[in-house]
Amino acid sequence: MAEAAKQRAVSAREPRRHRGLRLLEDIGGIIAHSSDHRASVQGIVETIAEHLSMEVCSLYVYDPHAQTLSLFATTGLDPGSVGKVAMGIDEGLTGIVIQKMEPVMAVDAMAHPRYKYFPETGEERYHSFLGVPVVDQRTARGVLIVQTSRRRRFTRDEVRLLKAIAVPVAGILAQTHLRASLETKEEERRSYEERMAQAIDRLRDYEGQPVGRPGAQTRLIGLGASPGFGVGRAHLVASELRLDDLRRERRGPLKRELNRLAAAIKRSVEELARTKERILASVPEIDAAVFDAQQLMLQDPSFVSRIEALIGEGLRAEAALQLTVEELVAQFAELDDPYMKDRAADIKDIGQRVLRQLLGVGERRRPASDAVVLVASDIALSDLALIEQENLKAVVLASGGVTSHASILAKSMEIPTVVGVERAEEAIREGDELVVDGNAGVVFVNPTPEILREYDRLEREYRAFNRDLETLRDLPAETLDGHRVSLSANIGLLGDMHLARLHGAEAVGLYRTEVPFLSHRDFLTEEEQVDLYRRVVEGMGGQPVTIRTLDLGADKYPRYLRVPHEENPFLGWRSIRISLELPEIFKVQLRAILRASVVGPVRIMFPMISSVEEIRRVKELLAEVQDELRAEGYAFDPNASIGMMIEVPSAVCMASYLIQEVDFFSLGTNDLIQYILAVDRNNRKVAPLYEPLHPAVIQHMAQAVAAAKHAGKRVSICGEMAADPVCTLLLVGLGFDELSMGPFFIPVIKRLIRALDYQTAQSLADQVVGLATVRQVKSLIFEAMRDLDVIDIMEMYH
Ligand code: PEP
Ligand code: MG
Repeated sequence: MAEAAKQRAVSAREPRRHRGLRLLEDIGGIIAHSSDHRASVQGIVETIAEHLSMEVCSLYVYDPHAQTLSLFATTGLDPGSVGKVAMGIDEGLTGIVIQKMEPVMAVDAMAHPRYKYFPETGEERYHSFLGVPVVDQRTARGVLIVQTSRRRRFTRDEVRLLKAIAVPVAGILAQTHLRASLETKEEERRSYEERMAQAIDRLRDYEGQPVGRPGAQTRLIGLGASPGFGVGRAHLVASELRLDDLRRERRGPLKRELNRLAAAIKRSVEELARTKERILASVPEIDAAVFDAQQLMLQDPSFVSRIEALIGEGLRAEAALQLTVEELVAQFAELDDPYMKDRAADIKDIGQRVLRQLLGVGERRRPASDAVVLVASDIALSDLALIEQENLKAVVLASGGVTSHASILAKSMEIPTVVGVERAEEAIREGDELVVDGNAGVVFVNPTPEILREYDRLEREYRAFNRDLETLRDLPAETLDGHRVSLSANIGLLGDMHLARLHGAEAVGLYRTEVPFLSHRDFLTEEEQVDLYRRVVEGMGGQPVTIRTLDLGADKYPRYLRVPHEENPFLGWRSIRISLELPEIFKVQLRAILRASVVGPVRIMFPMISSVEEIRRVKELLAEVQDELRAEGYAFDPNASIGMMIEVPSAVCMASYLIQEVDFFSLGTNDLIQYILAVDRNNRKVAPLYEPLHPAVIQHMAQAVAAAKHAGKRVSICGEMAADPVCTLLLVGLGFDELSMGPFFIPVIKRLIRALDYQTAQSLADQVVGLATVRQVKSLIFEAMRDLDVIDIMEMYH
């Protein structure tokens, strides 16, 4: 105390300016040497009181949510009132400081109309009041107050000094706030993990159940092909009509039997026409010829006369039909040509159709429930068209076809879909209650009430969450510090354009042109392609459309292209390699794309480029096509941008050369990851090794982005990674100009981008690029995500 008195005496003799400096210095010392924020603040208020000869110095902390101020530290007032005294910002002189965000002085505080007395503080002795706001980065953190018992005015220097001291105090409060919010988040995380662990424990009950016991409570695992949750009654599509018993029965009179057959064929033809109309309305590019071929076969005299002949031999129409179909299927199945092999499936389908008519089952039975989950081995388009869209709640497929037409269509219709569910048809019975989780790729059969309740809650939250996201539709994907990223859509079918617009896509970042080729009977003609591409470009209403040339091969073969036998199809004849080997087909596509470029902005993109020679050869063909079009008098946009996909490690190595050849790069990480890590993207056995956040993948991405940036060119990403919220911070930080993804994911990614700041993202990316393990990468990203307050997104999508 003697020491303090001595110091006060020294301070009093010091020039005022020095006194201020010394006070700030002392406060700096307190902050530097204390690790306890509350103790620092207490030390600071004591030091202020001592240096400025004030009887009271206090700090109130501001809670913006509750809009209250509470006493955090004091010297002079009753120390017992710390943490107990709290007031609204519309109360007391302290409240005015926050409301006005400027210093407030009162010579006689008690005479002020806003004076508020707290008996527990014992402040009735103090008359004069000076309060200054404590502000950090334009955020109010609290109020710093000095009081004296003598009625006095505070000098301008005192006000200025108190304001200067409020700056480091604000820093401490900001840190305290941060720590508190981290602790809360940590607490939230712990409680989330606990909730998850409990949920998993509940789910474990299912795991012991043997799969394949129909009607049992079972949990089936597959792959999520279209997100969302669906609850409904199972409708098994594959149940074929069988005739074994009928075969033994003798027919009635010949004429009656022939009439039955004729009537059944007539009704089948009409039914086909209706189905065709319904399907083409939702998927215009499906080849109408598929239906026409079935109609023609139904009316083919040799098909019909073979059935009639067997009826003449004494068989019932049903049995005669079945024998004829079996004979034909056997003949087609023996053929080598894959296209002809596939016709066998068409014939079976026709047989079933006529059979249903003969048996009076009529058009495929529509399930009675208004909440239907379709279950099938694979699903034909006509199966999807069978059920009114509002009643179709989910789809479960035993086949692994994430890219099958039906699952692409399900995605377009936003129907939650799980594929690759082994033995689904054994484990599920007609009418079973199902919960389908398209996000996690899980199907619950006859779930317990707890699971149903849990999913009911999840679905409601999910819907509310998505509704909330829709409000972002017209806002830009802009970080807090003003950095813009373009969010665009990956599309395959014309129906996807509607989704792209609905979810606020700024462009089409990837139009997979092979998708319409896969559903056609033959390569599309130039005119068919021009028509299709024009519809896409026009449909996007002036937004750029990135048209990728055919990416066939590997797992994508149209029926009319003979599949070569290859030991390693993904390392074989695929994508641009096919296009370059079949220039007559490739050039027709280039002509069609260029011709479509007159109706709106088009970017042409080439897949799977692995060398400089390859992209140069592609450009030579493009130049030839442009010359030909000019000579023929066709208009096209000569300045349409030319880009290439980076999907092969060699393209990353050569990125600085390749970028000289094109206007932009787009990273196809689906393939890039499988080639860098030597992990087949479709092989479930090695699925855990397929890791987008592997440090090697990140280094390759960083290298490709750097090459593009160095050349001043645009770089985007169109692999699935772009839609993964865990990766967004990193991708933005790496410097991607554009993220292209399934339209459904755009709002989620936008919300994330709008919650982060570019500088943080950049420094995270810098740190991540130097890391050695996936675990380190993920924990750094997770830490950063926690600070962004975006845990709800992670919970919804992971
Ligand atoms: C990719 O490989 O990331 C990509 C977008 O192409 P696709 O998935 O069509 O092979
Ligand atoms: Mg690819």
